[in-house]
Amino acid sequence: MVQSLDRSQGRSGTLSASGTTAPTFTGNRALQLEEKLIFEMGQPGRCGVDLPEPPKIADRLGGLRRRGAIGLPGLAEPQVVQHYTRLSQKNYAIDMGVYPLGSCTMKHNPRLNEKIARLPGFGDIHPLQPQSTVQGAFELIDELARWLKTLTGMPAVAMSPAAGAHGEMCGMMAIAAALAARGESQRKTVLVPESAHGTNPATAAALGFVVKPIPATDDGHVDVEALKAALGPDVAAIMLTNPNTCGLFERDIREVAEAVHAVGAYFYCDGANYNAIVGRVRPGDLGVDCMHINLHKTFSTPHGGGGPGSGPVVLSDRLAAYAPRPWVIRDTNGWRAAEEGASVDGQPLGRLKAFHGQMGMFTRALSYMMSHGADGLKQVAEDAVLSANYIMARLSVEMTPAFGGPCMHEALFDDSFLKDTGVSTLDFAKAMIDEGFHPMTMYFPLVVHGALLIEPTETQPKESLDQFCDALLHLARKAKSGTAVEEFHAAPTMAPRRRLDETLAARKPVLRWKPSNNPPTDAPTRQAAE
Ligand SMILES: *Cc1c(COP(=O)(O)O)cnc(C)c1O
Repeated sequence: MVQSLDRSQGRSGTLSASGTTAPTFTGNRALQLEEKLIFEMGQPGRCGVDLPEPPKIADRLGGLRRRGAIGLPGLAEPQVVQHYTRLSQKNYAIDMGVYPLGSCTMKHNPRLNEKIARLPGFGDIHPLQPQSTVQGAFELIDELARWLKTLTGMPAVAMSPAAGAHGEMCGMMAIAAALAARGESQRKTVLVPESAHGTNPATAAALGFVVKPIPATDDGHVDVEALKAALGPDVAAIMLTNPNTCGLFERDIREVAEAVHAVGAYFYCDGANYNAIVGRVRPGDLGVDCMHINLHKTFSTPHGGGGPGSGPVVLSDRLAAYAPRPWVIRDTNGWRAAEEGASVDGQPLGRLKAFHGQMGMFTRALSYMMSHGADGLKQVAEDAVLSANYIMARLSVEMTPAFGGPCMHEALFDDSFLKDTGVSTLDFAKAMIDEGFHPMTMYFPLVVHGALLIEPTETQPKESLDQFCDALLHLARKAKSGTAVEEFHAAPTMAPRRRLDETLAARKPVLRWKPSNNPPTDAPTRQAAE
């Protein structure tokens, strides 16, 4: 069997990576059951349904007809149900406990959102059905757009981008279009502070811009003097994340905006962390030209393997004319998605995506906004920041904050509290798994050594935060005691899988399952990544 599908590697039941032997006959760990790939379980000829023989019809495939068996695994219905149920239990999810990934904003998704998104008028519609039959859906998109514009203080919003990074692409394409309209396409430099999210330089580079990094100061903010020194007639834009990935508000943001505008460049703000300031700060007041909003972070909708994202982009007057198509408008015949006649003239950048955007995400986000109300959204930001500062204060007793002072929505620690203990950030995170916690974001942002970035969000009750902090404080003390180094190196010891060879998996991924013995002539080609 091929390497990353070698299921004995890292398995607790048999010989594990760290050399412990099977504690049980089956390899199961209590009611955590070992799981084979569905292809390994299948038996030829077995089937969960009883279908009639297909009628004999003439072959119209002109010689392209499949000759061998299709190669699907054959299983009975209970086997299929049990297989997928067991798999679902192996997923850690926000519905199971604290999910402290920094920068990812994993917050509880209220069930009300789900109920509303499943209403037949929203959930069962098709983007190709006549527009006269989906008037309510258009009105919802328009209403959501109105909320986004009001909350951000910006005059326009492009709704179709399908994720944060896609929104960045939309905004930067609008900037490129605006520069082209000004006859200034020679502006090719995009300034990206080191405290920006990694998608920012990736987006700029993908669009053919030249990325120029701007250093961070010792206190985790953008170095404004270095930024000003880098500004010039070659600069197209700055891409600044605010609050930044150090969990800090860029307090000089207005000064940055003025300096950027003074040289004729645009100000792209990465607003994926908008949940920290929603209802409190209007980016339009800060001089921002465009900003994507992750509906799937700020406005709850599930993400991270849980569903698609949505990254609408708010645009200033200077960029509104370059929004992508289509526009949702209302005329004498009602609502429709217009491909023509923007209310402003400009060269729109065409379509970014099929149809109008992510309807399910729109519905969930508007449901979240309307159920919270404007005052409730403000409280969301306040509670998210309060939770993060609570964690920061409690953990600072044993762990080392990367920067002094209060934080925004995430608490960032470096690894100096682990210095000389023989325990690394990775060991620490793995030990958290044994304690029943999904680790925080590790080794990011890069500007902090051995970073541990914790984002509790506003949706965890204090009891959960306390249990989380108690566990981390315990682990920090244990690491410093120097008596448990081997334990840390071996962790996690109680998970169904131990430490996998991540380097090998990244360098030589085996993405295709191949039968190990008696390969049938039509080997299945389904991907079986593990
Ligand atoms: C999550 C995130 C992004 C990217 O959003 P996706 O929806 O994952 O593409 C960009 N910037 C920041 C600051 C983020 O936290």
